[in-house]
Amino acid sequence: MRWAGQRIDAETPGTLPGLGLIAGLVRSVTTPEFQGITFHEVLARSALNSVPGTALPFNWTVNPYRGCSHACRYCFARPTHKYLELDTGLDFDRQIVVKTNVADVLRRELARPSWSREPVALGTNTDPYQRAEGRYRLMPGIIDALASSGTPLSVLTKGTLLRRDLGLLSAASAEVSVGIAVSLALGDEELRRRLEPGVPSVRGRLDLIRAIRDAGLPCSVMVAPVLPWLTDSTDQLDQLLAQLSEAGATGVTPLVLHLRPGVKDWFMQWLAHDHPNLVGRYESLYAHGSYASPSYRKAFEEKARPLLDKHGFGRRSRHRSEPIDGMHSGTVETLGPKPSTQERLF
Ligand code: SF4
Repeated sequence: MRWAGQRIDAETPGTLPGLGLIAGLVRSVTTPEFQGITFHEVLARSALNSVPGTALPFNWTVNPYRGCSHACRYCFARPTHKYLELDTGLDFDRQIVVKTNVADVLRRELARPSWSREPVALGTNTDPYQRAEGRYRLMPGIIDALASSGTPLSVLTKGTLLRRDLGLLSAASAEVSVGIAVSLALGDEELRRRLEPGVPSVRGRLDLIRAIRDAGLPCSVMVAPVLPWLTDSTDQLDQLLAQLSEAGATGVTPLVLHLRPGVKDWFMQWLAHDHPNLVGRYESLYAHGSYASPSYRKAFEEKARPLLDKHGFGRRSRHRSEPIDGMHSGTVETLGPKPSTQERLF
């Protein structure tokens, strides 16, 4: 295998400060196809994560990857890299942990008599269809394991790579409930390039929504995160919702930017560089915690509701297997104080 020659010896002192904390590490590899990214291949001991008692419509998740090369500046999952003694900025984007045996482990767990076939969510922490999935192909095994065990599943992604597995997902939907959600919160391609540098284009994600619908599957869209004063104008929302409606989205959930500790610094560095005039306004908007001020959220809700109605999204309800929190922002395993549903939506 081409990658074999690219191995970084995990035993070499100083290779990475956190390598010793990556349980089950088999090897770390780099390849010219993924400039600047190191993959840490691990043998996971478990695949199902229990997330009981959250306000979310699922109690179980599977996360084949830790870290995400989509590199969104606002990503809520960034703090999870701290547990590996990696930083929550560039390391999160470039040091990707890959659970290479996740499908096999999952099959074993799903075969236990005690498994109750509760819905399992994919994409609640990091994106399961980030670029690495093109190489590792972990999702087909995961989808097959869940569907063949009679377990409902949902996938939340920004990755157009999901198109590869549409046949599988469509077949799975004949056996179990399958929910798919795409995250797309802006229509400005230049802003997308600067804010979400590793994420497929706006056009690519609109085409993905179309392809999901053409495959006969429902597709909800997380308009998340909405960025105050950057993507929240009436015109911007109106245009985006029109595009989503035209692409066939079956539901839309807007979510205003949430800046947790460990994410805020990284995001604010970007804001200071790209939009220095907004720094003061964001500081006061998020002065009292991770959520935008109640007055902003209320005003946003008042602006968004008629637009959702106008484009036919107002009364469409989510079904249980659809993810409802922000893009990978559910970060269920690490979620801090839980917001109310209303807070999560706006
Ligand atoms: S927000 Fe989602 S797609 Fe973006 S970096 Fe985080 S996990 Fe990846």
